[in-house]
Amino acid sequence: MKLLDGKTGIIFGVANKRSIAWAIAQSLSAAGMRLAFTYQGDRLKENVAELAGTLPKSLLYPCDVTSDTEIAGVFEALGRETGALDALVHSVAFAQREDLEGAFSKTSREGFRVAHDISAYSLVALTRAALSLLEKSGQASVVAMTYYGAEKVATGYNVMGVAKASLEATIRYLAADVGARGIRVNAISAGPVNTLAARGIRGFTEILKHHAEKAPLKRNVELREVGDTALFLASPLSSGITGEVIYVDCGYHIMAV
Ligand code: NAD
Repeated sequence: MKLLDGKTGIIFGVANKRSIAWAIAQSLSAAGMRLAFTYQGDRLKENVAELAGTLPKSLLYPCDVTSDTEIAGVFEALGRETGALDALVHSVAFAQREDLEGAFSKTSREGFRVAHDISAYSLVALTRAALSLLEKSGQASVVAMTYYGAEKVATGYNVMGVAKASLEATIRYLAADVGARGIRVNAISAGPVNTLAARGIRGFTEILKHHAEKAPLKRNVELREVGDTALFLASPLSSGITGEVIYVDCGYHIMAV
């Protein structure tokens, strides 16, 4: 008997095999969880379908998180497949390229809106749409991905840092809101990982090098380590933890000088 046998989860944010969401999927699936995946637009459909197809009995739905119609469609379809939802993984973020370079004070109204809509508000929209399915689990877990740039200034992270601060506050407010229904909401603050989204950040290679040098473990985090922490958060092993941000960054954030 595996830890998550008989459980169902949905994962938002797989783009390719380097996505953090895919590492999380592998950890959850290895523990026995049946998974549904969403993809953002037809451009990513083939990629995600191919990856999802390597896991047993996986499900696949389109979902751009800026569309309330698509979000509703996902959970209607999922409700027809399963009686309850035990885990929802939010591994989605976006900021316009021009807002990830140069002076933060140049962030446009639209750039600020888009970054917050996709990277923070979407967690509220997804959790709300999933609520009745999550409630039926009796011990459901929502997990989102964040970064240290929410708390301290990370050069070049700009508006994404502000959106992540909003996401982390959203975690706490959601956790307080849905806790009585047996739903936990937590975030993983991962150290830098070389993914598609990360490549949009100027100087990312130097950031990786700096983290590895400064972190107590003297290396960068591995995708598997992020995936396994999501497994812990999605499982009853973490049943007393909610509203929390857990660092999976080789200890980087504890260091001053
Ligand atoms: P990624 O590019 O593989 O994943 C980002 C995902 O967001 C993609 O699947 C993309 O399709 C999705 N997305 C963007 N806009 C969307 C929209 N409108 N609708 C639906 N989906 C949309 O990159 P990743 O690094 O795996 O990022 C996953 C999460 O991890 C993000 O929240 C990111 O901020 C966070 N994170 C990444 C790092 C890192 O160093 N890579 C560190 C800490 C946290």
